[in-house]
This record gives sequence, C-alpha cells and structure tokens, in this order.
Amino acid sequence: MTDDCLFCSIVAGDIPADVVAENGQAIAFRDISPQAPTHVLVIPRVHQPDIGSLVEADPAAATGVLTLAREVADEAGGSYRLVFNTGADAHQTVFHCHAHVLAGRSLGWPPG
Ligand code: 5GP
Ligand code: ZN
Repeated sequence: MTDDCLFCSIVAGDIPADVVAENGQAIAFRDISPQAPTHVLVIPRVHQPDIGSLVEADPAAATGVLTLAREVADEAGGSYRLVFNTGADAHQTVFHCHAHVLAGRSLGWPPG
C-alpha cells in the first residue's frame, strides 16, 4: 500500500470499483472510461509502478496478473489485446502496474 496511489486505494477497498475477478495476487475491475465492450484493468495487490519493476520485485505477482488477465479474456471470448502502457509517453497515467484487457470489438493496429 502506497499513500495517494489510486489503485492501492482500490486494492484496500477505500475507493469502489466494479471488480469482475480476483486471485491471491491480483484484482480485475472494469475501466471507468471503457475503450471497448470489454475493458478490464488487472492490477497486482502489491504496489509497483510498472510491469518491469513488478516482474523483478515479485515474479509471483506478475504471474498472478497474467493468469487473471487470461481468465478475464477467456470470459470475454474471442480475440483480445493485453496492454501495459509503461511510461508517460506511452500514455501511462496511473503509476501502479496495470494490464488493460480489451476485447469485444475489432482492434486496429498499429495502436495510436
Ligand atoms: P493508463 O493510461 O495509465 O494506461 O490507464 C489508466 C486507466 O485507469 C485509464 O484507462 C483510466 O480510464 C482508468 N481509471 C482512472 N481512474 C479510475 C478509477 O477511479 N476507476 C477505474 N475503474 N478506472 C480508472
Ligand atoms: Zn499503488
């Protein structure tokens, strides 16, 4: 738990979220501003700023995030995209590691 981290507050239950799945390492909840019919964020319970630091500090938590992301994607059905925006120039706005699971529509490439 890190003070004044939005996603740590969601993990702690201090800020409500539409949780769709969870495991011992990670929580999945719907993005407040969905960009696809399924747009779910999957975050580790521990605070790390991005996927690179998470896999180095806590590989089990990184595996927990990926395992939960696959469950969410399987539930959505069909094709999906898994995105870790990493760094401000890649449009990371919340610096608590999170995967976006996007599904339910045709997804263009390359991304913007
Ligand atoms: P980023 O741009 O850092 O990759 O993604 C952050 C995501 O968090 C954005 O898609 C944004 O819509 C979402 N988000 C920001 N604040 C909240 C919130 O309070 N609740 C939920 N569920 N999602 C949020
Ligand atoms: Zn955090």
